[in-house]
Amino acid sequence: MLPEKKYDLIVIGGGVLGAFSAFHALLLGKSVALLERNKRPRQATVRNFGQIVPSGLSTDWRKYGLKSLEIYRELQAIRDFSLRQNGTAYVASDEDEVLLLHEMNDIDRQMGYSSQLLDQRAACARFDGLKTSYCREALFYPEEYSCDPRQMIGCVIDYLVEQADLQYFPNTVAQDIEMDRGRTCKVISNRKEIFWSDQILICNGAEYQLLFPELYEDEALECSKLQMMMTKPQKNRKILGNILSGLSIRRYESFRECPSYTNVQSRYVQHELVRDWGIHILFKQADNGQVIIGDSHHYADAVDKDELGFDILQEVNDFMMLRAKEIFNLDTWDLDRIWTGVYSQCKGRDVLTRTIENKIHILNAIGGKGMTAGPGYTFYHINKLFGND
Ligand SMILES: Cc1cc2nc3c(=O)[nH]c(=O)nc-3n(C[C@H](O)[C@H](O)[C@H](O)COP(=O)(O)OP(=O)(O)OC[C@H]3O[C@@H](n4cnc5c(N)ncnc54)[C@H](O)[C@@H]3O)c2cc1C
Repeated sequence: MLPEKKYDLIVIGGGVLGAFSAFHALLLGKSVALLERNKRPRQATVRNFGQIVPSGLSTDWRKYGLKSLEIYRELQAIRDFSLRQNGTAYVASDEDEVLLLHEMNDIDRQMGYSSQLLDQRAACARFDGLKTSYCREALFYPEEYSCDPRQMIGCVIDYLVEQADLQYFPNTVAQDIEMDRGRTCKVISNRKEIFWSDQILICNGAEYQLLFPELYEDEALECSKLQMMMTKPQKNRKILGNILSGLSIRRYESFRECPSYTNVQSRYVQHELVRDWGIHILFKQADNGQVIIGDSHHYADAVDKDELGFDILQEVNDFMMLRAKEIFNLDTWDLDRIWTGVYSQCKGRDVLTRTIENKIHILNAIGGKGMTAGPGYTFYHINKLFGND
């Protein structure tokens, strides 16, 4: 039977942007349908580290990260979706990276955001296995979170269905959108079901092909394909928190605001694989002891997304593993699994928002920060959409 109910909002795509947009609209008392092409979301939102790190965001965007921390915290109090407050550490391996950590610590102080400098001894004592040969100092953010992304998004959707009357339509591909009945929108699915709504929000991640593909051709958008690895469970080693290396310090948006950033980068001689494959090394341990290690970045314009291919390059994984071993001692480096993930991002902007005929809204291309900024950003975006800002 065709669903004929009219919703206040239809959200297309159940990743972090779509699911949390649905969440905020439901909190405003709106009726919401969430259409997801798979049974469960299975793109960027479940392929990431699960690092929730406002410290990596530009100062403009930290407010969204902080709002996300609040939202995640409130959700975790209702239902355990694997949120852990073990903090984040950026580990410096040379004098230049140490300088950036000190400058960032000053910026944090000015912003009133909690961070602590740890000397080598304190950092290695806190992070089991961190090598003294790598670590010079660390900058620690005690209030930041991590989660298991595969668990998190399913929990959030289940919670919204059970407790907030979200109408979730899995295995439902939104294939077309039309204006009908005056100014009401009509979404047509792959099974020719029809969904009616006053407002449509498209959060389709890197899957641009189906809905308004011409719009994505016009925008300066690109996709990044990341390679990820996960070890077998560590027997004894407990690495609490998100660990980001010197290469991350050199790459993350927040550090670009440090006074010495440009000088530091101009002195830096990058290994060609670091440069060509955008490699920086991060670690996050899951509750069962497995350690996620990544990542690399292979870019293509959105219109040429297929050029990213489907291969996992062994050379890139070998290099990341080599670098990871310089940073930590683990009980085992045996891998349990490897995978890739793709996210979309704007060139020269933080996120893509577009509105078509005042009814169809596009929210996309939040880049590598969606887990951190997504829940907070969608709070403001949805409130604005419903005139509540
Ligand atoms: C490997 C990797 C590591 C990362 N690590 C981190 C991290 O540690 N911290 C962090 O903050 N960020 C991280 N990110 C970034 C973060 O994962 C993304 O910014 C975020 O998940 C993007 O969410 P999204 O909802 O826009 O897209 P997606 O998660 O891609 O969701 C889009 C959804 O839309 C659905 N869809 C598409 N088209 C249709 C259609 N026509 N009809 C119905 N459904 C449709 C798809 O099936 C999909 O579920 C990482 C990303 C990757 C790839």
